[in-house]
Amino acid sequence: MDKIIRCITSDGAIMASAIDSTDIVYKASKIHHTSPVASAALGRLLTATSMMGAMLKSKTASINLRVSGDGPLGPVIAVADSFGNVKGYVSNASCPSTHYENGKLNVSQAVGKNGVLNVMRDLGTGEPYIGQIELQSGEIAEDIAAYYAQSEQIPTVCALGVLIDKETSEVLLSGGLLIQLLPGAFEDTIEKLEKNIAELDSVTTMLAKGMSTLDMCKEALKGFEVEVLDEFEVKYVCGCSKEKIASLIESMPKEEIEDMIVKDHGAQAGCHFCNKKFEFSEDELKAILRKK
Ligand SMILES: [Zn+2]
Repeated sequence: MDKIIRCITSDGAIMASAIDSTDIVYKASKIHHTSPVASAALGRLLTATSMMGAMLKSKTASINLRVSGDGPLGPVIAVADSFGNVKGYVSNASCPSTHYENGKLNVSQAVGKNGVLNVMRDLGTGEPYIGQIELQSGEIAEDIAAYYAQSEQIPTVCALGVLIDKETSEVLLSGGLLIQLLPGAFEDTIEKLEKNIAELDSVTTMLAKGMSTLDMCKEALKGFEVEVLDEFEVKYVCGCSKEKIASLIESMPKEEIEDMIVKDHGAQAGCHFCNKKFEFSEDELKAILRKK
C-alpha cells in the first residue's frame, strides 16, 4: 500500500512531503497500457498531484493538474482528493519512448518543452482557484517547482521518480518529495537545505535502498529536527459510476440525446480515468431525457 508522510522542521521553517506511489503508478500503467515514457510522465504527475492533494485543508477539496506540451504524448491529466487519492490519464498512452545518453527516459521530449501547466484547486466553495505557468522543461518535477515559485511565491523543491524495468516495461518503483520553505526562513536554513538537496540520491534510488517515506524526509532535512505532521495510505481511485455518467449525459443538449436514441438506439460512454465502459439503452436514454 502506498503512503504519504508530511513533516515539518521544529523551527517551522520547512515542510516536506514524501510519497511511495509505486502501487498507484503500477495500477495506472495497467489501466492505460502505457508505453515506458507514458508511464513515467503519467506516474510523475500522479505522484506530484497526490502530494499536492494531501496538502489541501478542506476535506471536500480536490486538485486537478494538466500538463499540455507540444510533444507526441499530448496532455497528461491527474486529479487528487484531499486525502491524496489520485487518478489520471495521458492522451497518447502508446507514445514512443526515447532515452537520454545516460539511459534515463526522455520525458521532456515526449511532453514537449513548449506548453503550459494548469493547476485547478476546487476548495468546495464554488469558485475554483486556477493557476497556470509556462512549462520549464516538460520533465514535470521542475514544472511543479516553478508553479509554486511563480504562482504562489513559495520556494519549492520537487523530486519525482518512476523506475521502469527495461526488459518488461513494468513499473518497478515510484515516489516523490516536495519540500517547501515557509515564510520567514533564515538564510542559513536555506543554505543547509540546498546542501542537503544537492547531495540527495534520486527518489527511486532511495526507495530501492529500502528507505521509508520518513527516511526520505529525514535525509532531505538532515541537520534539522523533524516532526511528523501526519502519515496516511493513498490509492489510485476513480469513483465513477453509471449514475455520474448519466448526469453528464443529462447535461448535454437535448438534440444530442435525441440523436443517441433515434440514430444510435443507445449509447456507450467510457471513463477516461479507469477505462470502464457504461452502456445506456434507448429506454435509459429516454428516462434521462424526461428528467431534463
Ligand atoms: Zn472511472
